[in-house]
Amino acid sequence: MTDDDARAAGVAARLHDVRRRIADAERAAGRRPGSVRLLLATKTVPAALVRAAVGAGVDLIGENRVQELVAKGPELAGLPVEIHLIGHLQSNKVNPALRWASCVQSVDSPEIAARLAERSTGAGRVLDVLIQVNVSGEETKFGVLPAAATDVAAGVAMLPGLRLRGFMTIGPNSPDQGAVRAGYARLRELRDAVVGSGEAGTPEATELSMGMSGDLELAIAEGATIVRIGAAVFGTRQQ
Ligand SMILES: *Cc1c(COP(=O)(O)O)cnc(C)c1O
Repeated sequence: MTDDDARAAGVAARLHDVRRRIADAERAAGRRPGSVRLLLATKTVPAALVRAAVGAGVDLIGENRVQELVAKGPELAGLPVEIHLIGHLQSNKVNPALRWASCVQSVDSPEIAARLAERSTGAGRVLDVLIQVNVSGEETKFGVLPAAATDVAAGVAMLPGLRLRGFMTIGPNSPDQGAVRAGYARLRELRDAVVGSGEAGTPEATELSMGMSGDLELAIAEGATIVRIGAAVFGTRQQ
């Protein structure tokens, strides 16, 4: 077995474990089996290994940086996998992001939403977007603050060229499970308020992208529809 084969086999084995964790968490929360989608966070992971994960049944990946999207995109083109952007997007990188991503989960300001809408409309497309909310208010994190989230969502939902599909958050970086869970509950409450608002373009904003390798069970208990997993499948990153 080559090193590459060994790494691919390791990824397949760890994927199996993660899928079991997701299924167990769905069951524990009384949720329908299959109601939570697995997104693999593939930052710093070489395209060959991403291809191996797709071979093992992964149909959704997320990249943080547009530069990496552009580098790996051609090697992933044609594979049965959806690619989402899950990292902060700068306005001068909107075009390459649109080229390679079918959804931007990291819309974190009205300005970037407007730019995406303009370019998406110009390309004759409708781009799926999630609004990233900084539920914990940590200064190091991107995302709109919870107090502004419903207004931002109503504005984004009205933009042409975008389809508001829901909300994303990066959980508080804390060993306090209660605090982490409260952050995820906050995102669910915001989602429920927006979907229930009756505003144009909001009924489809049902997705909750939350939960990572260390806390996916808490996120699923609070209603996550997408969990974003990196380290549990690819090992701990060096950077
Ligand atoms: C890296 C990353 C993840 C995955 O985190 P792990 O702890 O490696 O599972 C999820 N979401 C975002 C935005 C990330 O950058």
